[in-house]
Amino acid sequence: MKISPKGQGDKGKEKKKKQFSIKPKDGEKLEKKAVPQMGEAQTYSKKLAKFQNQAADKAKIKKRLKKITKFSIIGLLIAVVGITYLIQKPKIDKLFKAKAGPGGIMAVEENKNEKYGFDFRNFTVKRDVTKDRQGIVKTLKSYKISDYKIEELKLKLVEASGYNELEAGKTLTLLSDPSEQTPKHLIYEATVNSYMILNLEDPVGIEMVEEDLAVVVKSAACLIQSSLHKSILDNGLRYELIFKMEQALSSRVDFYHLNPGDRFKLVYEEKYLDNKLVGIGNLLGIYFQTNGEDIYGFQFENEGKEVYVDDSGRPLKTSFILAPVKYARISSYFGNRYHPVLKKSKAHKGTDYAAPEGTPIIAVADGIVLNAQFSQYNGNYVKLKHNDTYKTQYLHMSKFAEGIKPGTAVKQGQTIGYVGSTGLSTGPHVCFRFWKNDVQVDHLKERLPQAEALGVEHIPDFVTHRDSVLALLEEIQVYN
Ligand SMILES: [Zn+2]
Repeated sequence: MKISPKGQGDKGKEKKKKQFSIKPKDGEKLEKKAVPQMGEAQTYSKKLAKFQNQAADKAKIKKRLKKITKFSIIGLLIAVVGITYLIQKPKIDKLFKAKAGPGGIMAVEENKNEKYGFDFRNFTVKRDVTKDRQGIVKTLKSYKISDYKIEELKLKLVEASGYNELEAGKTLTLLSDPSEQTPKHLIYEATVNSYMILNLEDPVGIEMVEEDLAVVVKSAACLIQSSLHKSILDNGLRYELIFKMEQALSSRVDFYHLNPGDRFKLVYEEKYLDNKLVGIGNLLGIYFQTNGEDIYGFQFENEGKEVYVDDSGRPLKTSFILAPVKYARISSYFGNRYHPVLKKSKAHKGTDYAAPEGTPIIAVADGIVLNAQFSQYNGNYVKLKHNDTYKTQYLHMSKFAEGIKPGTAVKQGQTIGYVGSTGLSTGPHVCFRFWKNDVQVDHLKERLPQAEALGVEHIPDFVTHRDSVLALLEEIQVYN
């Protein structure tokens, strides 16, 4: 695989099929600008190649979806046999037809009537989009598929994809005989490079087809002039990187209040399909300089989970996020204050975060919902239990998030409700209360438990991994 630090995409060694044409947003621009300050292309290229191989190996292991056979002479033979067979036996099993598709498509790649291994001229083709909370059952029911088939397809979905539901907002293609209403095949575009064919005739079946993405390791550097968003934009980088950066360093860097002169460097993966950029892969390493502090983050697999650790292998995430709302300012701290509504001095047993009405409120740690209810003073509030020691409470919500009710398990960072001004409140804010052994404490002064450290047995692997990423980070220059 060819890798170039100047931003050329891999030239299609892993490319399989041509029927997809996904236009990358700002693809061209990015190619030129993604790595604005690189030098020493030769050594860099070698290191990248080494790293690239590791990344590719990892990607392979992680692949959950069924892989299709590489396009090759064998593939071509299968395709030829497949096509011949199709001509001779029109009522061929549709799964086989789907499998033969990729090869067949290569031979007729100019034909816009061919997609997913089907000749669209033989069908009435309809497009749809999966709807929020509709799921596979309701989706299929809306197309008048019989109940027994739906039950069977529900089971097969898990087998084929590892998932037990369809995701909302995905493209669906329905193929039916011109003379009939009920579709024979439904194609669900799971990701940019994979789709699922649901065969709706007896016997029903699901086929998962995935195309390999080429993964290229890239690097970038930014000097903050005003905001992070502007720097990302000015450097022609993809916004997805911001989310990745937050994932890695949100417990150490306040991304919403950066200062001019702060800087960062990134080593990350870009994913290509047919030489077109379709997305960002892993953020492998990050260096951030802010408030005169140098912070490093390295992605590392720990006990089957991808985590970010610092240069000494300590997890960067605490088990609690510091604030229940992003973009918020603290309008009142924990302690005594004059209460604007009650008009008297009163102990304030929480921290107020002012934010616009409707701003999502997130769970600061994994937990179980204890309460999601209205009370006179608290308004709409949610209380979470995180463990035997800690509980947190979020007051004055305009409304609860979908599904938030006593007993619901929530994940750290999950939206549990929305900022409002219900109960005893003068304006939209969330009063955040932190309970330790059932006593309310100032969470900003609390020494919160750290996430679990890397096991000693992982340290040697980590050191090797860290040094390879670090070498790449060190070579990136940030110019003033
Ligand atoms: Zn408050």
